[in-house]
Amino acid sequence: MNQNYFRLGICAIIFAVQASYSLGHGKLNNGAEINSHIVSVKSKDFKADLKEFIAKGYDIAGVDVSAGIIDLVVNDSVVNMLRVEKGQSIEGIKTFDPLMAPDAGYTTYDELTLLLNKAQQAFPDLMQVESIGKSHEGREIWAVKISDSVEQSESDEPVVFFNAMHHAREVMTTEVAVDIIGRLTSEYGRNSKIKNWVDRNEIWIVPMVNPDGNNKVWTSNSMWRKNTREGHGVDVNRNYPYKWGACNGSSGNKSDDTYRGPSAGSEPETQALMGLIAKIKPVLSISYHSYSELVLYPYSCEGEHTPIHETIANVGQTLAGRLPKDGASGYYTPGTSWEILYGVDGGDIDWAYAEHDVLPFVIEVSSKSQGFQPSFTQWRQRTVEKMRAGWGYMLDRAGQSGIRGRVFDKQGRQLYNGSVSLELLSGQKDTSKSLRTFKIKPNGVYHLVTEPGMYRLTVVSQGESISKDVLVGGTLTNLDFEF
Ligand SMILES: [Zn+2]
Repeated sequence: MNQNYFRLGICAIIFAVQASYSLGHGKLNNGAEINSHIVSVKSKDFKADLKEFIAKGYDIAGVDVSAGIIDLVVNDSVVNMLRVEKGQSIEGIKTFDPLMAPDAGYTTYDELTLLLNKAQQAFPDLMQVESIGKSHEGREIWAVKISDSVEQSESDEPVVFFNAMHHAREVMTTEVAVDIIGRLTSEYGRNSKIKNWVDRNEIWIVPMVNPDGNNKVWTSNSMWRKNTREGHGVDVNRNYPYKWGACNGSSGNKSDDTYRGPSAGSEPETQALMGLIAKIKPVLSISYHSYSELVLYPYSCEGEHTPIHETIANVGQTLAGRLPKDGASGYYTPGTSWEILYGVDGGDIDWAYAEHDVLPFVIEVSSKSQGFQPSFTQWRQRTVEKMRAGWGYMLDRAGQSGIRGRVFDKQGRQLYNGSVSLELLSGQKDTSKSLRTFKIKPNGVYHLVTEPGMYRLTVVSQGESISKDVLVGGTLTNLDFEF
């Protein structure tokens, strides 16, 4: 096709979508159109255009933030109806066959199940696999625990949590999770850094949150994002019950790719993750997505920051600084979703922070030029190797600046029916306000990730309160409270 034909405007695409109602969301089995193109739109006003595309129900595949390019997944009609308009331009169109499965090297659900079983047999002292629930179609959702004391159910170590593939088509993310498991187990005996991570932390990994969607990617539609509820599916990462559907960050339309589901937390995949997070109470976490080379952190609704924004932003900045971009100079871009892209509601990181005090991050792995399913031989190893510096940093950070301790009574019984509030006394910009109240874990342990500085901790339990001042430096400070 003539390249000039595609020097077109955003308005034309929007018009085309409106004129042909459900375009962009074709169905496979009823003969209707399916999405088979990714159109890269060079935007003049990046965030305004993103917002508009979302409002129109577009499936946003990914972006290139520094180039101001937005990738849209569309079908034949949208591509064919493009008309020359003023304004933005089309940088390129990638056409693919959605019936063509990803490269054979990528891990399928059945392969994952086998691989985890084999790894557990090979490293029974380090690793345990358990099911945390079943998907809509009855597939077990696997969680892996890696620790030096793996058989202990309540170890006294910081928990760091990694998960992948909320979104079915993002096949590289499961590769990252599989690589984490492989490195931590097979290198434990010969790499002192890895031994330290495993000895000092309790590490949990869910390599495939959405196995039904992934099955669909392999069998009928390589661009499938959601789970498979009633055929139309739900975006599992818009279904979490914190500000569910609250800030135009998801869709109420079943056919949209960001459909939030019939009610908050309605999906079995969401519930499985929620149950696990409630049980293990991670200190830090990474949810792997693709693509766009970003590090995202809460909150995700327009204009909102967490009360410990400076800490979260600093950890996010350091994490991003460990991840060089693939095609360009520089590193992954850190920020909240609404600052970099658009508002999101019902996402896992907002819920994990608000409900369980986790410092949670999303990493959007891979650049726009690789997309969702880059050549396995060309990109798989490079990508997972690059990601090691990021998850390694999380495992280091759990042992760095922060305050951790136990709350117990005079008989030595651990107390958890209380809260810890953190007040910054000096060391940062804002020296006056109470930063945050944290819940104590069921095993009586609390763990606050902080910046270095002087803090006052107040623990309230059973109607009594105790305050202590503590100076936090570069390492984790231990501080117990006895009532
Ligand atoms: Zn995703």
